Formats: sequence, structure tokens, C-alpha cells
Amino acid sequence: MKTIEDLDVAGKRVFVRADLNVPLSDGRITDDGRIRAVAPTIAKLVERGAKVVVASHLGRPKGAPDPQFSLAPVAERLGEILGRPVAFATDTVGGSARSAVAALADGEVVLLENLRFNAGETSKDDAERKAFAEQLAALADLYVGDGFGAVHRKHASVYDLPALLPHAAGDLIATEVGVLKKLTEDVKRPYVVVLGGAKVSDKLGVIDNLLKKADRILIGGGMAYTFLKAKGHEVGISLLQEDQIPTVLGYLAEAEERGVEFVLPVDVLVSAEFPDLKGKTPANPDTVASDEIPADKEGLDIGPKTRELYAAKLADAGTVFWNGPMGVFEHPDYANGTKAVAQALIDSNAFTVVGGGDSAAAVRILGFDETKFGHISTGGGASLEYLEGKTLPGLAALEG
Ligand code: ADP
Ligand code: MG
Repeated sequence: MKTIEDLDVAGKRVFVRADLNVPLSDGRITDDGRIRAVAPTIAKLVERGAKVVVASHLGRPKGAPDPQFSLAPVAERLGEILGRPVAFATDTVGGSARSAVAALADGEVVLLENLRFNAGETSKDDAERKAFAEQLAALADLYVGDGFGAVHRKHASVYDLPALLPHAAGDLIATEVGVLKKLTEDVKRPYVVVLGGAKVSDKLGVIDNLLKKADRILIGGGMAYTFLKAKGHEVGISLLQEDQIPTVLGYLAEAEERGVEFVLPVDVLVSAEFPDLKGKTPANPDTVASDEIPADKEGLDIGPKTRELYAAKLADAGTVFWNGPMGVFEHPDYANGTKAVAQALIDSNAFTVVGGGDSAAAVRILGFDETKFGHISTGGGASLEYLEGKTLPGLAALEG
């Protein structure tokens, strides 16, 4: 894979596909980790006299402009982080983008509006995607792929566009891939994996591959309830992926066969209702054993005994990969499980990697010092698919 150093960027229009998909609340950025992660790549291009055209998606608009998913607040924040003005184009390949790019002097930066305001970006139709990629290609001379969080997507700006321009990987992608390589090649043992979060079906796939690599797998978050149900326990109204029960039983059997320690919560915090994430009114959850969840309640965090158990299971780790919060950390009454795991990672001497948009944001929002972790990845699905052993379209495109 070529790096930025291999490109002669001075005076050239360089298209940077970034992942600026940050969490927003009422138009305010609640965690700017992804912006800060790609800023060094942009700063380097600026320093070398490139005309930098930055593009990203944000959220999941339906292929048409939708103001709630505008990147305008991100342009402002990116400017603050870079310490220089960042122009903003109110469209992606239209008149605003064309004139903003044409107006760039060497060392100036423009951010285009959300790529997903164009149906061609995510289209399953190769021709439609390619047509959009050609419009994007007209805005630049060179392509730098640095949107690690999107490299598992076969999208126009990620997969089709690099084929149309001389290209290289940005520094963020190079770092992310280096860390993931470390997790698949020479891991220091014990290798402990912690999985949680809400995107259960997306994440089950990775277990298949991790069973062949990890020594210990700890399960929390919404994912835990499908496992508890598979073991025959009542899970009440907890998040459940009923159709995945056979898969999950297969994993438990394989873990046993391979001698991989598979750990499920022993207690959980339950409530009859999902917490109020805006007003944060006290939720007053009950703590119950994980095989005694009442039929009318839902599990929303791991309990105190599980926090202690998981901390102990992480204490002697050589390597840790953590993806997915242990509970609904957005509410203070359900943040303790996630906090306990974050603290256990910090307290261990392991090489620790945190992946997943919400997990990475949780670590920072809950007040942990991000420099205390080995690596905080900007990619959730991308890191998982890499660890699953899949070919990632956005990385394959940069190899070519
Ligand atoms: P990541 O972005 O780190 O990959 P996910 O997107 O899979 O993580 O999941 C994050 C979300 O999971 C958080 O918003 C959190 O509130 C939610 N969550 C965690 N535990 C539970 C649970 N027991 N029930 C419902 N939602 C949960
Ligand atoms: Mg998420």
C-alpha cells in the first residue's frame, strides 16, 4: 500500500476520503475523536502545499440532502483543530463543490457536504456508483484513503474512486491496519476479547474467527442476552436475537472444544423500561442474577459481581481487544459496567485496543484518558470485519 510520502502533492488537488461520522446531539458534536484522528493527515497535506478536498459521510441519510446530517458543524470543528479556516461546500459534486475546489490556493482545505446525500455513494448498482465516483474524480488529481471507519463499505468514494485516481493510504489507515495486523499475527498472551454493544448480529460473526485466536472471550452489552437465552435462561424483554441462538450454541460448543474460556455475565441490572437518555432521570434499576431476569424486565448493564469478575479476567491479559459497551452507558445508572472494563484495561499491562464508534466515544465521554489505552480505533465494523478475516473493499482498492 502506498503512503502519502509516495505522492507528489504540491499544488495538486488531493481528495481525502475521511470518516467524519461523529455523534451529534441537537447539531452539537458530542465526541470529536474521529475528526482529531484524521487531522494529522490533512495537516501534512496542507504543509506540503496540496489543495485538500475532504469528504465524508455522516449518519444514514437516504441518498438525498437532509439537514440533520449536514457536515457543516464538522467543518467548523475541523478548522478549530487544524488552526486554519476550512471552507465548506453545501453540496458534494454540484456548483458549490466545484467553485469551492476551484477557489482553493495551495495549502487550503475544503470540506464537501455529506457524500450520502447522493444516492450513488451507497448504491448496490455498480454503474450508478461508478457514475458518482467519476463526478468526484473530476474534483481532484490524487486520492488519499483515510476513512478507516468506512473501509468495509463498497461505496463510491471508498471503493470506486481510488480506481480512477493515483492513490495512497493516509496515516490513520496505515496506523489502524498496523494495529489490527498485530492482533492477528504475533499476539502477546493471554489474548482477551471483550464484546458488547447493541449491533448483535453484526458482531456475532467475529466470534467465529476470534475463537481460533483468543484465549478468553467476555460477553456483555445487548449481546449477552442472546447467549443467556441460548443457555436456557429467561431474559425478559432484553435485547434478543432469537434467530442467532443456534449460531451462539455452536460458538459455546466450539469454545469448549478449543479450550477458549467463554465468560457470560453472572448478574445484570434490570428495569421495566429503557432509561431516559436526555433528561437522565434516575433509573433505579434492580440487580439480579443473570439466570433470574424477571419476564417483564430488560437487562441494561452488567452487575457488580460481573464487573469484578471481568476485571479479574482482564488483569493478567497480554493483549485485549474490546468492542461494544457493557451497558447503556449513555445513562449514568448503566455506565458502571463500561467504566469497570475501561478501568481494567488501563490497570492491566496488556496491549489494549478499543474499537467501535460508541465504545471509543464511551471511553472519552466517561472521562478516561485516551493515552492510557494502546490504541483507540476509529473503526467499529471495519475492525471487526478485518478480524473476521474478510477482504475490506476500501483497503483492497488502495492496494491496487
Ligand atoms: P460500537 O459502536 O462500539 O460498535 P454498538 O453500536 O454495537 O457499539 O452499541 C452501542 C450501544 O449499545 C450503546 O448506545 C448502548 O446504549 C447500547 N447497549 C449496550 N448494552 C445494551 C443493552 N443491554 N441493551 C440495549 N442497548 C445496549
Ligand atoms: Mg455504534
